[in-house]
Amino acid sequence: MATLGTPQNTIAILQKYQFHFQKKFGQNFLIDPRILHKITHAAGITDNDFVLEIGPGIGTMTQYLCEAAREVAAVEIDSNLIPILEDTLHEYPNVSIIHQDILKLDIHRLIQEKNNGNPIKVVANLPYYITTPIIMGLFESHIPMESITVMVQKEVADRMQATPGTKDYGALSLAVQYYSIPETVANVPPNCFIPRPKVGSAVIRLAKRKENAVAVQDEALLFSLIRASFQQRRKTLANGLHNAPGIPLQKEQAIQILERLGISPSIRGEALSLEQFALLCNAITATVDGRNTEQP
Ligand code: SAM
Repeated sequence: MATLGTPQNTIAILQKYQFHFQKKFGQNFLIDPRILHKITHAAGITDNDFVLEIGPGIGTMTQYLCEAAREVAAVEIDSNLIPILEDTLHEYPNVSIIHQDILKLDIHRLIQEKNNGNPIKVVANLPYYITTPIIMGLFESHIPMESITVMVQKEVADRMQATPGTKDYGALSLAVQYYSIPETVANVPPNCFIPRPKVGSAVIRLAKRKENAVAVQDEALLFSLIRASFQQRRKTLANGLHNAPGIPLQKEQAIQILERLGISPSIRGEALSLEQFALLCNAITATVDGRNTEQP
């Protein structure tokens, strides 16, 4: 395989097709073979795997994925890149190039058609402007999936792995940790891309949990609680919870439930662990249902 992932080879393709980068699509192409290797290795791809790549660009990482996987679907939004991909990937019979916005693609259907509905691996150097909607969309749509291995902004990788009480801890940390076990695989400086991004990047692997990290009776309520707690970071938990959208509690009820759980009503949401959010969620469900028990 003659890798596209060097500065010379990438520039040659860009010139051949007179390709102009589109800022609105978050285009920063990888030009470092060591990082490309690291990503494919961290994703643990075998020749049994069906891999979904989001945003193949000129096909640099796709080459590595096609070498390792049984089959690859590469979903690219930019119509100018489609003829380039058809050229750079022509020697791989195991790739489908799909011209689509990943946020609009019916991934369930793709997995049904291409992988008999079995779990897939997702790999991507993500467009940074839509990192969170893409990752949360993958989790929340409950598609059969083993892992997501992605390049994201370093700061976003830090937030995904943050623990309670730290400055990076927030709704994204809790949502990602609810569905998966995150692990940073590599830090990647701006000079590994053309053009260079203004921020540092990191490769993070999110290993999907077989069971979500905590058991709750009402998942929507859990996420309403998390959102309410972090939207008003400076409010105490009791104040943040009553009157928040999707949370059926008066302030007095909120205080009573927190006290019953041994959580100080004056604590801020950012100090609460996922397990505590789950306890709170189940206690609220029980109270609203007229049962007075905290356990699921
Ligand atoms: N994978 C290539 C690489 O590593 O060199 C390119 C990565 S670049 C950071 C992000 C890619 O995602 C670009 O090719 C961009 O056009 C594409 N993209 C942006 N928004 C997208 C979307 N909504 N759906 C699919 N692809 C998208």
